[in-house]
Amino acid sequence: MSPVHIDALLLSNPAIVGWAPMAAWSTMAPIHLDGAGKSGHYEVTMSCDFLAQALPGVQKLSPYVPGKPVDELARELGLDPQRIVKLASNENPLGPSPKAIEAIKAELAELTRYPDGNGFELKQKIAKRCAASIEQVTLGNGSNDILELAARAYLAPGLNAVFSEHAFAVYPLVTQAVGAEGRAVPAVSWGHDLNAMLKAIDKNTRIVFLANPNNPTGTWFGPQALAAFLKAVPEHVLVVLDEAYIEYAEGNELPDGLSYLASHSNLLISRTFSKAYGLASLRVGYAVSSVQIADVLNRVRQPFNVNSLALAAACASMDDVEYLERSRQANDEGMAQLERGFQDLELSWIPSKGNFIAVDLGRPAAPIYQALLEEGVIVRPVIGYGMPTFLRVSIGTKDENSRFLGALAKVLARG
Ligand SMILES: *Cc1c(COP(=O)(O)O)cnc(C)c1O
Repeated sequence: MSPVHIDALLLSNPAIVGWAPMAAWSTMAPIHLDGAGKSGHYEVTMSCDFLAQALPGVQKLSPYVPGKPVDELARELGLDPQRIVKLASNENPLGPSPKAIEAIKAELAELTRYPDGNGFELKQKIAKRCAASIEQVTLGNGSNDILELAARAYLAPGLNAVFSEHAFAVYPLVTQAVGAEGRAVPAVSWGHDLNAMLKAIDKNTRIVFLANPNNPTGTWFGPQALAAFLKAVPEHVLVVLDEAYIEYAEGNELPDGLSYLASHSNLLISRTFSKAYGLASLRVGYAVSSVQIADVLNRVRQPFNVNSLALAAACASMDDVEYLERSRQANDEGMAQLERGFQDLELSWIPSKGNFIAVDLGRPAAPIYQALLEEGVIVRPVIGYGMPTFLRVSIGTKDENSRFLGALAKVLARG
């Protein structure tokens, strides 16, 4: 192909020239379409500010900050990845269920096919387990996808969503991304103040996000508090009850959100295979709601949002009751181990019903986080959640927890 200059191309297209200042385009350096520049990249001089062009909510977004990946720390500090302990993303330390791995292997030969866009088999299993109908289930690319579907379907500029201070970062993120107002209601004792959240609701509120237990605080509310909240919340408000950690806490002071679905058509329960089911990398979560809300979410959902390996692994994991039981038990033991360790170090913590715990160092946590990285231990700073003296630590295996506690003792002893 003969070299064509992009600027010439653009100038000959009145539709494109129409919304850009002529002068800016004409000063643009010529770029050849058929060859990369000196750096090996196509270098395009931007004459239009594409940040300014983005929706107002998007312009102000700060991207979600994930836990530091093991390989990244290994690269940065020249450490052996095998020696690094990552307790930063609330991942299941047992690894995935062996049944999930088997199911994935069996599915590999079919990778050339699109997955079942309706996720029939998984939905059927979920519906059965949740005593719901298949039409009440929505599958998500992780439960974050569910949260985003709800925001996209129900929020817009002029509308608002209510959530708690210190609540999961994805609630403000998905709210702001669609240009709606996020109302963070001050917490009590690090947990949701459900009464204050009710008061924050107005005629423009479309969603209330509740996390039970909440991440990163681990705080929770009981059945009576939930029942009272659902009774008082206006019917036009969708209540998204995020139960990402419910499998760890079942029958342990927490309400089972599913049991409120029959009496509350404005309730949506969001759950995930990323935590107790140990499939974080595959991205699969689900919602159970009224048939009508599920229908709405399925309209905005990407047709193939859950891939075939994830579908197969999630189905197999649901059958592995023994794995879930082991996960729960390992979590209980690890939680007790970390609490004892914190007690020995005279640190306080927020009691947690999740697979993580927020520990208060009583001083800025950032330098301690850094020092732990140098010891090959990755935990999660939560300054972005308004908790500058805390670190959030995921429950690991016994050995991982010991490594972390040893490193923490060493780093704190330096003063
Ligand atoms: C981890 C987590 C999720 C789940 O994320 P996935 O997208 O399912 O991996 C949802 N909500 C909370 C509160 C979480 O901590």
